[in-house]
Amino acid sequence: MDEKFDCIIVGAGVAGLAAAMTLARNNMKFLLIEKGEFAGAKNVSGGVLWGSDLAKLVPNYWEEENAGWERYITQRRLTFLDEQSSFSIDFKSSHFQETPYTGVVVLRSKFDRWLAGKVEDAIAESDFPMDSFIAPNIKVDEVLMEDGKAVGIRTGEEEFHANSVIIAEGVNNLLTRQVGLQDDYVPADHVLTGIKEVIRYDQEKLEDRFQLSGLGGMSNEYIGYATDGVEGGGFLYTNRDTISIGLVLGLKDLREKGKSPHDILNHFKKHPAVRDTIRGGEVVEYSAHVVSSGDKRIMPKELYKDGVLICGEAANLLMNAGKAIQGMDYAMRSGILAAETIVKAKEQDDYSSSTMKEYRQALDESFVMKDMNSFQDAVHMLHSPQMFKDVPNLICDFGRKFFTIDNEPTPKSRKMLAESIKKHSSYWDLMKLGFKGAKSL
Ligand SMILES: Cc1cc2nc3c(=O)[nH]c(=O)nc-3n(C[C@H](O)[C@H](O)[C@H](O)COP(=O)(O)OP(=O)(O)OC[C@H]3O[C@@H](n4cnc5c(N)ncnc54)[C@H](O)[C@@H]3O)c2cc1C
Repeated sequence: MDEKFDCIIVGAGVAGLAAAMTLARNNMKFLLIEKGEFAGAKNVSGGVLWGSDLAKLVPNYWEEENAGWERYITQRRLTFLDEQSSFSIDFKSSHFQETPYTGVVVLRSKFDRWLAGKVEDAIAESDFPMDSFIAPNIKVDEVLMEDGKAVGIRTGEEEFHANSVIIAEGVNNLLTRQVGLQDDYVPADHVLTGIKEVIRYDQEKLEDRFQLSGLGGMSNEYIGYATDGVEGGGFLYTNRDTISIGLVLGLKDLREKGKSPHDILNHFKKHPAVRDTIRGGEVVEYSAHVVSSGDKRIMPKELYKDGVLICGEAANLLMNAGKAIQGMDYAMRSGILAAETIVKAKEQDDYSSSTMKEYRQALDESFVMKDMNSFQDAVHMLHSPQMFKDVPNLICDFGRKFFTIDNEPTPKSRKMLAESIKKHSSYWDLMKLGFKGAKSL
C-alpha cells in the first residue's frame, strides 16, 4: 500500500476509536492500527465510562438493543472498610435514568469491538469508504520522522505514510518515548497496577442481589481494608450478568511491602461485607494492567510536535480524586480533540506544530485538563496513608459505636467520635487533613 493517509492512529482503545470516528465523520482518509486481534482484545478496564461524550460519537446509543455497554449507572456507593465493618455513603437518584446517562458500565473487549463496528459504519458513509481502514493484529514498531516531522509508521519491514500520526497507545507509551515526548523513566510511585476479576451470576440473581431494575447498574468504590495496607482502593461494578471487582494498587508501595496484587484481591474478597455481596458466582475472567495515578508529573513533556499528537492514557490523562476512576472519558475527549485538530490541519494544509498546538489548547480548555489541574492536591491526598488507612479505620470505628445498642448507657455521639479520633489519628492530623481536603476538593 503506497498511498498516503491524512492520518494514522496507533491503538484502537477508547482514545483511538474516538479519534477514528471523528476523522471518519469529517471525511478524512485514515488508517487505525491495533496490535490486538480485534479492538478491545488487549484492553482491561473496571470500568465505568463517565459522561456524555459517547452520545456525541454514537447518538442515541441507549436505543440499540445489542449495544456494547452493560448497564447505566443508577446508584453510586463509596464504602469505607476496616477489618470487621463497612460504612457506606450511598446515592441513588431517578435523575440517573435520564439520557444521556451519567455513566455506562462497560467490558472493554465487548465495548471496544462494538465501537470499532460503529467506526466501520462511519467509514462506509464517508468519502473514503475503500481507502480508510481499521487494521487489527499489527503492532506499530516506530513512528517515522523526517526532519523532526512525523511522516508515517513502520511495522516490521513495512512502512505506511501519512501527514500526521495520532499516538493512542495507552499507558505503556513506548512510541511517545520514541518520538521524544516522554522521559524514559517514570517513577514507580506515580504509577498503579490494576487487577480485576469478572464474576458471572444468573442475571436475575444478580439483579435481585443488587436491587437493579431494567438495565440500571451500580458502582461501588472501596477505601481502607480492601488494599491490606497498600496505597490504593477497590471497586465493584455491575454488568448485565457479571460483576467486575478489582483493585488499583500503588506499584512502589506494593514492592516495598512485598505483597502481591493477587493475594490482596483475595483478601479484599474475603472481607465480610464483600464476601456476602459476591458469593455464589463463577470467576470467568482475570486481568491486570498498569494504570496512571492521575499525577500530572508523569505527563509527557508536551502532547504534540510536528505531525504528532498524543492522546488518552499515552498522555497519562487520568483522574482519580476519590470519586471515581476517570480514564476512558478523558481518553474519549482527548481522541475527539486530537482528530478535530487533524481536520483543521488538513483544511490549512499545515501539520506543523503551530497547528498541532491547538490540540493542547483545546485540551486545556476542556474538562480534562481543567479537572487534572484543579484536583492535583486531591490526587496526592488520596494516595497518603491517612486516607487509605487511618480515615477508614476511624469512620468504621465510629460506625461500630454509633450503630451498636447494648443496653448500657449510650455515650453522646461527639464522645464516640472523640474516642475514635484518639484511637486512629489525632485532632491535629485530622485538622491538617481537613484543611488539605477543603483546599483540594
Ligand atoms: C483495573 C482498571 C480499572 C479501570 N477502571 C476504570 C473506570 O472505571 N473508568 C475509567 O474511565 N477508566 C478506568 N480505567 C482506566 C482506563 O481503562 C484507561 O484510562 C483507558 O483505557 C485509556 O484508554 P486509551 O484508549 O488511552 O488506552 P487503551 O485503552 O490502553 O488502548 C490502547 C490501545 O493501543 C493498542 N496499542 C498499544 N501499542 C500499540 C502499538 N505499538 N501498535 C498497535 N497498537 C498498539 C493497545 O493494544 C490498545 O488497544 C481502569 C484501568 C484499569 C487498569
